[in-house]
Amino acid sequence: MNKFYITTPIYYVNARPHIGHAYTTIACDTVARRERMLGVDTYFLTGTDEHGQKIERAAQAAGKSPQQLTDEVSAEFRKLWDRMGLTYDDFIRTTEDRHKKSVQQLFRTIRDNGFIYKGTYTGQYCVYDELYVDATEPGAPCPECGRPTETVHEENYFFKLSAFQDKLLHLYTEQPDFIRPETRRNEVMSFVRSGLRDLSVSRSTFSWGIPVPDDPRHVIYVWLDALANYITALGYGRDDDKLFHKYWPADVQMIGKEIVRFHCVYWPAFLMAAGIALPRGIVAHGWLLFEENKMSKSRGNIVRAETILDVLGTDALRYFLLREIVFGQDGSFSFDALVQRYNSDLANGLGNLASRTLTMITRYFGGAVPTPAAVDGTIADTARKVIQEFGAAFDQFQFSRALEGAWGLVAAVDRYIVENAPWALDEKKDEPSRARLGTVLYTSAEALRIVTALAHPVIPEATARIWAQLGLGEIRKFALSGLKWGELQPGTRLGKVEPVFPRADKSAIERMQKMEEQERTAPAAEAKPVAGPKVITAPAAAAPDGKITIDDFAKVELRVGQVKVAERVPKADKLLRLEVDLGTEVRQVVAGIAESYAPETLVGRKVVIVANLAPRKLRGLESNGMIVAASPEGGKAILAGFLEDVPVGTRLK
Ligand SMILES: [Zn+2]
Repeated sequence: MNKFYITTPIYYVNARPHIGHAYTTIACDTVARRERMLGVDTYFLTGTDEHGQKIERAAQAAGKSPQQLTDEVSAEFRKLWDRMGLTYDDFIRTTEDRHKKSVQQLFRTIRDNGFIYKGTYTGQYCVYDELYVDATEPGAPCPECGRPTETVHEENYFFKLSAFQDKLLHLYTEQPDFIRPETRRNEVMSFVRSGLRDLSVSRSTFSWGIPVPDDPRHVIYVWLDALANYITALGYGRDDDKLFHKYWPADVQMIGKEIVRFHCVYWPAFLMAAGIALPRGIVAHGWLLFEENKMSKSRGNIVRAETILDVLGTDALRYFLLREIVFGQDGSFSFDALVQRYNSDLANGLGNLASRTLTMITRYFGGAVPTPAAVDGTIADTARKVIQEFGAAFDQFQFSRALEGAWGLVAAVDRYIVENAPWALDEKKDEPSRARLGTVLYTSAEALRIVTALAHPVIPEATARIWAQLGLGEIRKFALSGLKWGELQPGTRLGKVEPVFPRADKSAIERMQKMEEQERTAPAAEAKPVAGPKVITAPAAAAPDGKITIDDFAKVELRVGQVKVAERVPKADKLLRLEVDLGTEVRQVVAGIAESYAPETLVGRKVVIVANLAPRKLRGLESNGMIVAASPEGGKAILAGFLEDVPVGTRLK
């Protein structure tokens, strides 16, 4: 079958895009580009996931409507993908009418097929993960994220997930490639074997979602809503379902390992219940760590793709992510490693091979590819092997291994050039040397052509330029399936030879670090949707080893307060005078946060107050307590806050 449908997960708009999102999308883009080059009719889908209580609350906290918030964040994703030149065919948003219509149709179909029924749920719920949790104690931590759960009592629609346990196990057994890699497949199988309980697929405690058909007091569970995007984008359940019939089932659905259960258990069960064909395979990648740590808002170590694009360009980021990380496993990102890889493989590797080969052809043969007097077997054999192995590795999503092989050819040609010293051959000015020179430069250029064609899906910009410099026109029109040694035509006129990967020096690292630092310490823009947990700095008597006991910490009385009044302090640029409700009393607090927050944005906001701090005077005003904020080096203060709703006066301990 000559079609290929690939999807990224749709990204939840509670976070701004960062390189973790870019990683998944780049991997899919690379696969899609290769399929197109192979002549396969390819459809590549990405988009944003926009419903749920988390978004509703984040919007509320930011003083926006959920639609405003989702419009903004979704546009940021799209803008970044466009800036990176990602070749998606469609970008679906779950707040679009076309999606809502199709989701309701899917819900109806599953219900009509007898797999959705009405029931009552009482128990713990994690708002952050939109997940019902198997726990009895109120406030018990969520097993997924560790945040405290909330107790809910809801009449809900339930999906008969329990009816699919055997069918799912059968699927994983019969179709071992349904879940890749193997480790994820094993996890899913043991999860399903341990027993499946019916799944609540509606919510009535909030309204930011798609109404249940015929019962609009409920909205459809955000995961059923979100997972459906893979078919709703194609027109499932609507009149315009041509694409659905053409491209479904998906050939590859790429995801991060944290959402394996949703994609490998719930998703196929929903599809089976609706009588829809299953995707051919779910491929899970690992996490992108920053210098070995998980990137997270609370660690403040999230790296934005824009920084890397600004300094080194898209190809550098794409190459690094696919070359450095073994796909499927966790991988580590650091600016040092990025620059090192860029210099060794791109600037000194492919870039250098292109510029020296093409420059010598220009100098010694007037810019036309010479005719080889013979075939240099070793390089030709290596190239043939690389072509074959590259494709095989790519088909298994072993991007790193594929690139390693191709760059093995780059290294081999580099050695070949040094050993054959074309510059010395040119100086001899005799017939045999001239013939040998033609062979050496033809061989080098042909190997360059092959690496360029193979690497195009990974580093599209630079390879398009090298291809044009080789005098071959537009690389995206090249049929990759026909790639073989010896197709470079002698006499081909080279284009203008220019370097494609300028070397990066040490300042590149510093520049990127500085840009990220600035982004992190920028005032907590009201646009930031979720106030993540922040660092609390509390004064306490230090023991000799720098540690304090729990009793020492208990002396600090931290309480949740709500700002009632906020105003500037005359003639003090940094100070705000606040009146903070602590539940039992309203306190005046003077805080040095005027550079980070406009006073009017603070009214109503919940903050953390050191309640038992001795009063002190600032600019003649008595400050009765201290407001807790993260104070980044050289940056502006960021107030501590809560993801969940907390009653005023609650003590932190
Ligand atoms: Zn959770």
